Amino acid sequence: MACVLGDSEFDKERGRNNRPVPYQNYKKRPEQEMNTELKTVLLQNVYAAYDKFAKGVENVCGIGCASCCTQNVSVTAIEAHCILDWLNKEDRLDFMKSLRSIPAKTICRPAITTNGLADKCLNQIEPPEEEVPSVTGVCPFLNKADRTCFIYEVRPFSCRSFFSKKKCEDHGHADIEPVLLTVNSVFLQVIEHIDSESLFGNMIEMLLFLGDKMNHDRYVKRGTLPSSNGFLQTRPIPGFIIPPEDEYKTLYALNTLYNTEVNNTTFRNIIMGTAS
Ligand code: SF4
Repeated sequence: MACVLGDSEFDKERGRNNRPVPYQNYKKRPEQEMNTELKTVLLQNVYAAYDKFAKGVENVCGIGCASCCTQNVSVTAIEAHCILDWLNKEDRLDFMKSLRSIPAKTICRPAITTNGLADKCLNQIEPPEEEVPSVTGVCPFLNKADRTCFIYEVRPFSCRSFFSKKKCEDHGHADIEPVLLTVNSVFLQVIEHIDSESLFGNMIEMLLFLGDKMNHDRYVKRGTLPSSNGFLQTRPIPGFIIPPEDEYKTLYALNTLYNTEVNNTTFRNIIMGTAS
C-alpha cells in the first residue's frame, strides 16, 4: 500500500515521472470559513469529477436495478443538507414524515468515518466493527413501482459510486472493480474533508436530524456541527491509502477534481485554505 501524505518521497517520485499527484498537507485546516453554500458548490464539483471518472467504469447497473437501495446509506451532513434543500425546492418536504416511521433497529449506523478509517490504517490500528442490523428495509426514496430513485438528482455519493460488473440480483452480491473501491474511498475522504467538524451517519437519521429547524439553522449559520448522539464527527484527510496498482487512475481522478476552477480559484486552493 502506498500512503499519499503531503510532500512524501512517494509524491516526489510521482512528480519526477510527471504523473498526477496531490501535493497537499491535508492536516492543515482551511483558513477561510467553509459555509454550507461553499460546501455545496464543492460537493457539486466532487460529484461532477466523479461522474467523469465513472464514465469509464465497467458496470451493468441501470434503471430499475436497485438491490443496493437499502436503508444502510451513510452520508455527511452537507449531503443531507443538499437533499433537504432539494425537497424544499420541489415542495416535497412532506416526504420527511415517512422517514419518521422507520424503526431505529432496522437502521445501520457507520462505526467510523472514512477519514477515521484511513487514520487507523495509516497508524496500523484495528478499526471498530460495524454492527449490521439483522433486518434492514428498502431505502425510503426508492419508488417501489418502477424502482427508480426519488431523489436521483441529489442522491449522496455512496449511491452515485456503487457499480457492479455483474447483476447483483443474479449473483447475490455486487462484483466491484478493486480500483473503484480505492477511488470511492478517496472521494469520500475529500467529501468528509470539505465537511470537517460536522457529522457523518446514516442518511435517514441525518435527514431527520437536519430536518429539525434548530439543528439546520445552526449548521447553515456555522457550517459545522458539534458531535451529537448517534453520529460521528467528521475530520480532515489524514492521508490516503492507495494500492500501487490503483495509483494512476486514482490520482488522475483526484487531480481532475483538484484542478477544477471554483470561485475564480481551484478546488485544491479552497480545500487547503490557500485561495487568495
Ligand atoms: S437514495 Fe436513491 S440511489 Fe440511494 S439508496 Fe435510496 S433510492 Fe437508492
